[in-house]
Amino acid sequence: MVKRFAVASLIVLLSGSSLPAQTIYPIDRAEILAGAHFDFKVEFPDLVDPAKVRVTVNGTDYATVFGQGGTFVDREDGRDQSALMQRDVALAKPGSVTVEVSDGTRSRSVVWTVYDTGARKAKNVILFIGDGMSPAHRVAARLLSKGIAEGKSFGKLAIDDMPQMALVATAGSDSIITDSANAASAYATGHKTAVNAMGVYADRTASPFDDPRVETIASLAKRRLGMAIGIVTNTEIEDATPAAMVAHTRRRAAYDEIVAQYFAAKPDVLMGGGSANFLPQAAAGSKRKDDVDYVTRFRDAGYQVVMTKSELEAAAAKSDTRKLLGLFAAGNMDGALDRKFLKGGGVKKFPEQPDLTDQVSAALDVLSKNEAGFFLMVESGLIDKYAHLLDMERAVYDTIMLDNAVRLARDWARARSEDTLILVVADHNHPNSLVGTINDDMSTTPNVPLRERVGVYEKAGFPNYPAPDAEGYPSRVDVSRRLAIFSASLPDHYETFRPKLDNPNEPTVTGDAPGTYKANDKYKDVPGVVLRSGNLPAMIGASVHSGEDVILTAAGPGSERVHGSMDNTEVFRVIADALGLATAAGP
Ligand SMILES: [Zn+2]
Repeated sequence: MVKRFAVASLIVLLSGSSLPAQTIYPIDRAEILAGAHFDFKVEFPDLVDPAKVRVTVNGTDYATVFGQGGTFVDREDGRDQSALMQRDVALAKPGSVTVEVSDGTRSRSVVWTVYDTGARKAKNVILFIGDGMSPAHRVAARLLSKGIAEGKSFGKLAIDDMPQMALVATAGSDSIITDSANAASAYATGHKTAVNAMGVYADRTASPFDDPRVETIASLAKRRLGMAIGIVTNTEIEDATPAAMVAHTRRRAAYDEIVAQYFAAKPDVLMGGGSANFLPQAAAGSKRKDDVDYVTRFRDAGYQVVMTKSELEAAAAKSDTRKLLGLFAAGNMDGALDRKFLKGGGVKKFPEQPDLTDQVSAALDVLSKNEAGFFLMVESGLIDKYAHLLDMERAVYDTIMLDNAVRLARDWARARSEDTLILVVADHNHPNSLVGTINDDMSTTPNVPLRERVGVYEKAGFPNYPAPDAEGYPSRVDVSRRLAIFSASLPDHYETFRPKLDNPNEPTVTGDAPGTYKANDKYKDVPGVVLRSGNLPAMIGASVHSGEDVILTAAGPGSERVHGSMDNTEVFRVIADALGLATAAGP
């Protein structure tokens, strides 16, 4: 009888309101570096009386713990919803923290873990991100750049030849599948967030710039240790992975604002494509929606501004270069296969783009002038773009390029008695698999369907790419026995089973219904072509990310924390621990 009453009253309690409980940011089970700044926010589902609101942190009024009270918003966004926001707070003491919020009728609690670090172990940290780099890309890069006979590879990739390795889970706060924004944000802040968001928890307000922020590794390393910061990519510099090192917005597409946030953060080295959003709208090729000239602003702030490989090398060689902005293309830069061999993509328009290894070499020259050390993020970002476009050869060549950049950094670190933590990781996976080879010799009869030339098991054998050059690149990809890397996620497209020698693949074009895509007719007359029905919604015009764990390898001081199965937020923790960020003196 007593039990039945208890159940009945619980039902009354639950049905008392159809509204959900409060939302609290940072979210439940958040892990927070001691001393790192964050914004605290409570979203009430309806209007509440501020006099009745009670917020405690481990039982003590939050204003006492955080040193001040927050701002109460009666009607957030003009709606019947109240909110409480307190910006820029920090928790100094490690341990479990319970936050309880009550509005007089409803209550909610979350538990955070505040963690400490040991003493500083590493002078510098270099975080390499192969955007969307799948295990298939790694294996293909090894096959092409090292060669293989009788099942044994002739060498190891630098990205694999590291003492520590872990599998990293990549899910975001809103979905099992991340994009590059919340994936990179997890590495840069140690907090989970939602697709498209970086450096913030994605809140409910209309503005993508007012969301509760979490501090980035770039801010922490600079604020607490006086370290130099470098951000190097071959995508647009405004793209999600590089931007997540400093930016705070839940809208990754906000390129103009991201450039403004770069200027406010002033990373010592900033390099990639994406000059279009640095130029005022009146300038030729500008994509800005205002008249601000950020190239001039950076120059006036003491930056050497370079646009070509030779300018980059000259600036890096100058002994007084401490700040460097490199913008080598209007949009994304071009990948290794186009720059070095095929001359497709944007190479004719921007013929003097540096290689990622040139960018890393220059970044190391400039950043290592800082006595207090540096944090450098290097992204080989087109692996992901090409994987989206089902352009496997270009994705593999840019994996080889990443490997060259990692080898360069490891040799650099060895020459300085290993004072540098080096991490190499993908941000999310692509559902790509190496299933065999495509073998033009397998059929002697013409007009045999191309799929009959896909060699599997013993018929796959070994590919016959020419021996790699000194940088690990075979001089051609259109060989008669080539790797068959297939994606498990497909838009409608014409499958040619052939590398695209003119330009990067464009599997789809805009469809007839608004917001949809259809197969690109460009490839429909390639001999043997097959029209493949996609397995994705028609509004998706490319292959998509997948949710499998990614591989993290590491070397140098602090790398021993990299092992087993890890969460992507723990990558931040490895960096924070190597730098002793919680124990560091500083404001
Ligand atoms: Zn992607």
